[in-house]
Amino acid sequence: MNCSELEAHLTDFLDGQLGPATEAAALEHIASCARCEAVLAGTRAVIDLAGDVGRVELEAAGRERLLQSILHASRSRAVPDGSVGSAERER
Ligand SMILES: [Zn+2]
Repeated sequence: MNCSELEAHLTDFLDGQLGPATEAAALEHIASCARCEAVLAGTRAVIDLAGDVGRVELEAAGRERLLQSILHASRSRAVPDGSVGSAERER
């Protein structure tokens, strides 16, 4: 798994919705990638905080937007070679 694949699976990963093989691949990538580890930790922290404060479930759309903003922030700091940020997401 690479960074883009992990990003695509991240919300499902946080929800425990990945299959065992995909989850194992995600964990393996996170263990070897400081950037994705930080993105995951940041996303989790915000979701936990939101849950603690208001016990409000983040809507999937809102969580996706949050994730994108975290990813964007981490991208603008790192990845000087442009290998990650240049590709448009297909949706
Ligand atoms: Zn990564």
